Amino acid sequence: MLFKQKSKLILALAGLILSSAVNAGTQSDRPNILVILTDDMGYADVGFNGSTDIITPNLDALAENGTMMTSAYNVHPFCGPSRAGIMTGRYPHKFGSQFNLPTSDNSGGLGIPTEETFISEVLQDAGYFTGALGKWHLGEESEFHPNNRGFDEYYGFLNGGHHYFPEHFDRRYQAERKKGLNRAIWHYLRPLEHNGKEVKETEYITDALSREASSFIETAGDKKQPFFLYLAYNAPHTPLEAKAEDEAMFPNIKDKKRKTYAGMVYAVDRGVKRIVDSLKATGQYDNTLIVFFSDNGGKLKAGGSNMPLRGSKGDVLEGGFRTPMFFHWPDKIPANNSYNHTVSTLDLFPTFASLGKATVAKTKKLDGKNIFTNLLNNTSARAGESIYVLRHKADLSNAAARRDNWKIIRNHNEPWRLYDVEKDKSEKNDLSYMHPHVLREMVADMEMWSWTNIQPKWFHIQAEGYHWRKNSMPRFHETFSLGDITNLNNAR
Ligand code: CA
Repeated sequence: MLFKQKSKLILALAGLILSSAVNAGTQSDRPNILVILTDDMGYADVGFNGSTDIITPNLDALAENGTMMTSAYNVHPFCGPSRAGIMTGRYPHKFGSQFNLPTSDNSGGLGIPTEETFISEVLQDAGYFTGALGKWHLGEESEFHPNNRGFDEYYGFLNGGHHYFPEHFDRRYQAERKKGLNRAIWHYLRPLEHNGKEVKETEYITDALSREASSFIETAGDKKQPFFLYLAYNAPHTPLEAKAEDEAMFPNIKDKKRKTYAGMVYAVDRGVKRIVDSLKATGQYDNTLIVFFSDNGGKLKAGGSNMPLRGSKGDVLEGGFRTPMFFHWPDKIPANNSYNHTVSTLDLFPTFASLGKATVAKTKKLDGKNIFTNLLNNTSARAGESIYVLRHKADLSNAAARRDNWKIIRNHNEPWRLYDVEKDKSEKNDLSYMHPHVLREMVADMEMWSWTNIQPKWFHIQAEGYHWRKNSMPRFHETFSLGDITNLNNAR
């Protein structure tokens, strides 16, 4: 009898210990994950990555207290496909999403195919409290809405961009409504929404998104679940609109566009301080993984700078798709550190899923790597393997691949070239004639990759679809044709 009672007591105690372990587990074994994404922000547009004119003290502090990725790449050199890659962990070319979605008045109800599982769905299923804020650009109809793609909370605008000052865009929106335009109203002017319901936003959009992020983090602090927050600022994407006080931070910048752009980046940085303060106030700072990056390179004509990289948004030169990036997580990620091996934003899906102890269906295809252990050990997650970038143009596609220190590139119908981008970030010294075997092998490998691509399911603008048909695109047989390398080089 006594033995039985003792056993019961031991079992009860064990149960208590077990249940407290489970509770502790949900709060600290798995990190909160906060993605802070900027839009069209260039390689040289944040202090920690070498900006000489824009100051970003709060981002710099996080970068310094974390690990900077010096060779981080987007999946695509412009918005929609880049974001589709982040969410799905796959190259958008593999599910026909290699162009931006058509704008909403003629979208025909299109969106990223629902067969493609998003990282948000996987983390939500694993018990994460999930939120998306800001620019979506992955489909507007109900089935593609963030709330139906793994996000408990959504606040923002579903299209590819927005004006920043409500007092201006709301007035223009109301005027267009009076004209009876309704669905044809330019989407940059439309009201923002919260979980599908229109809201009347009154703050500068960047500040509104920082406010919502802070509020989400505070709500998450009261929950037992970890959180996943995808904060997609549209800054510093056009239209160039900054607050006067933010622009005033840059008296030495004379170029008007650059000055406004700098103010827009500075507003993001102010928001980051607010977010960090909320993480600290709710005791979540040490166990939150913050990943910061831009969705593609800076647009040179719109105030961005990618120095010392060549190229602009849309290019497959490094300036088009290489991004400043850091991982910050006081509990686990080394501070004052840089990771120089290649990172793709495709790696975020498997890395986040692993940290979140989430189950990924065996049938789910992923193109990236779980880089977490490599990051801690400072080893490459893809030694000898390429990261690809392919942008279809009106004629031959712009194509490039990065493998270890090497980069192959064919830009604007020029011959294929080979650079050692570890030593030559500016892609100045073509080494194809010195290492033709490397060029040949990498181009052949990329051609094999291209065979798994499918036809685009849509085109952003009609002209793209017209070119696609008129030029019998994608014409991969020509894109990946080297011709005679020796002759090509002699001809130069
Ligand atoms: Ca973009």
